[in-house]
Amino acid sequence: MPVFFKKNFLFVFLIFISYNLHSEQRNNPQTDFKKIIALKDTGNIYQEMLNDKSDDLMENHPSEDIYNNIWTSERLNPYKVPIDSLPDSIHVNLSHFHIPVPGAVTSEFGPRRYRFHYGIDLRLNVGDSVLAAFSGKVRIIDYEGHGYGHYVVIRHDNGLETVYAHLSKVLVNLNQRVKSGELIALGGNTGRSTGPHLHFETRYIGNAINPATIINFITGKVITENYLITKKKTFYYQTEVKAVQLAKYYKVRQGDNLGSIASRNGTSVKNLCRLNGIKQKTLIRPGQRLRVR
Ligand SMILES: [Zn+2]
Repeated sequence: MPVFFKKNFLFVFLIFISYNLHSEQRNNPQTDFKKIIALKDTGNIYQEMLNDKSDDLMENHPSEDIYNNIWTSERLNPYKVPIDSLPDSIHVNLSHFHIPVPGAVTSEFGPRRYRFHYGIDLRLNVGDSVLAAFSGKVRIIDYEGHGYGHYVVIRHDNGLETVYAHLSKVLVNLNQRVKSGELIALGGNTGRSTGPHLHFETRYIGNAINPATIINFITGKVITENYLITKKKTFYYQTEVKAVQLAKYYKVRQGDNLGSIASRNGTSVKNLCRLNGIKQKTLIRPGQRLRVR
């Protein structure tokens, strides 16, 4: 075989192989499916956001950019975006805020005995008006008997999402657009609630932000109209969440004492006292729960 023919043959052969590889990729539904998944991967949104230097990103309906068309009423946090993957700082436009209910704060955001309280509780009477904090669109209307009771989640144009829980009656429809200050529900005492109140949460892509860092609940106004979310400051509570998750409790039985509880749970009396804010001489009674870790 002449040399030039050999070369050409090799060339044609390579083109043939290359074409087949590409056409296989094009026609393989699994590859296409993976591509779709990759597009929907929320973890990539933030890289895109960072790369997008357009100035109007934060001003005109940024929620569409931020949430990358993910719109589902299935879960409160379908995004599962770890705080670590958020940009270092994000501006949120808090103008046109309206306080959801004028009541006093009855429980703060932060660790509770067995869990973490991701919102703030505001006093109200059953049947009181609950108003939308900002303009936006109703994403979730649901009922959780052992949790939120009747609740509503709104995605706001400024990129935040807010949760309104323990409601007695919901007055909006799913996917309905609402204006800031619009009546969305009546306050109540449904779900895991020991008295009428509004459980109110503010979230950014699923991650809770302490509402008290956004809103002054005494004046009923936002602290600043140009709110800056920073990983360190805004999500300061992450270590507290981890502590709550690691915590383990023990129900005191007849005949127990701090020494026996400590050895049964692989800890020391000193540690038990520290975790529970008690002294070595403090009397413990059966049925009482003590934190052992
Ligand atoms: Zn609450």
